[in-house]
Amino acid sequence: MMQTMLVVEGQTPILVPQLDLKASYPPSSAAVFYNPTMEFGRDINVACMQTQADSLNKRSIITYLDALSASGIRGLRIANEAHLEVTLNDYNDTAYQLIKRNVKRLQLNVRVKHSDANALMSEERFGVVDIDPFGSPAPFVDAACRSATKMLCVTATDTAPLSGAHFNAGVRRYSAIPLNTEYHAETGIRILIGKIVRELVKYDKSAVPVLAHATEHYYRVYLRIERGARLADARLRSLGFVFHCLKCGHRYVTPGLAPGPRECALCSAEMVIAGPLWLGPLYDKSCCKRVLKNLENGVFGTKKRAFKTVELCLNELDVVTFFDYHKLLKELKCPPIPIETLMSGLRNIGYQASRTHFSGTSVKTDANVATLKDVLRDLSRATKK
Ligand code: SAH
Repeated sequence: MMQTMLVVEGQTPILVPQLDLKASYPPSSAAVFYNPTMEFGRDINVACMQTQADSLNKRSIITYLDALSASGIRGLRIANEAHLEVTLNDYNDTAYQLIKRNVKRLQLNVRVKHSDANALMSEERFGVVDIDPFGSPAPFVDAACRSATKMLCVTATDTAPLSGAHFNAGVRRYSAIPLNTEYHAETGIRILIGKIVRELVKYDKSAVPVLAHATEHYYRVYLRIERGARLADARLRSLGFVFHCLKCGHRYVTPGLAPGPRECALCSAEMVIAGPLWLGPLYDKSCCKRVLKNLENGVFGTKKRAFKTVELCLNELDVVTFFDYHKLLKELKCPPIPIETLMSGLRNIGYQASRTHFSGTSVKTDANVATLKDVLRDLSRATKK
């Protein structure tokens, strides 16, 4: 029999497999998958589902499918801490038995299924569908789009394909061109959202992201589902391409599913492309505020860190791509300056600027790369004096 241990995440004690810490990847060293470092993502998940429950104000009828449950830790926390009507599912027999043990211990009123996730999602509709696989979510996206009526939550741990490090795998799984630049985490998340939206529209549904974060080895997106062909047509206009000049770092976006001219307007070099990907906002600010409130008031193991990430998301400027200004300073052979100095420098000459949760050494701004370089040169000269 599989060795288990009791862990407490948030307010929920759960039996999880005993991991072999000497294994090359401990989370998959046991017969059932469990990754303790995902607690952070699960904390945000719980806080986000609490907002869903609150906003609809009829907790008991929001159904939530944890389609790939493993130990059940994610869905059980949602049942216990956000009080949605949860179904847990895993086709692996050992996982199914462990989920049932956990349900019994917690005495929660949840449903446990032992099905293929795609079959279950094709047969049944759920308010919230959560796809949290080990690896790519691509094989589950179509059925999840059919099943979800209110919200779709998706994790992707295949960041190398999505971010352009494994180019061909990215193209195959997401029917999009990934791009390995300093802002690959953002284009990766936007390609994932773009793929989900393109799968949704064929069912006359669409979606907008309410929250999205890139953390360590994975991306996580929360999309609010919308119904209707008209709205779906409108959301397609939030899909498009990022053009990037590898020579000078200039970039721009073009909406639509046919890419535009490829010559860099600043330096005439040929630009590379990422997409089709989502160009619209990544966050619903009022949802982020409610998630922050839940994180602040609740019991969460990674409270401070989760709060900081969602706060960064809330305050991120709504522009596509960001600039790693440390990289630019190096290129310009200028000494480092504080990020606050750069942001106020940009604001003083009429541009917008913010930090980004994607990277601690980067800014989002509506200034282009040439202006940004000028500002960096001026500021670091002024600091040297
Ligand atoms: N969501 C879990 C981790 C899931 S790991 C957590 O938060 O800890 C992925 C799980 O998906 C595994 O337990 C595996 O057995 C299950 N799985 C993979 N393909 C599946 C399928 N087609 N149908 C049902 N379960 C599947």
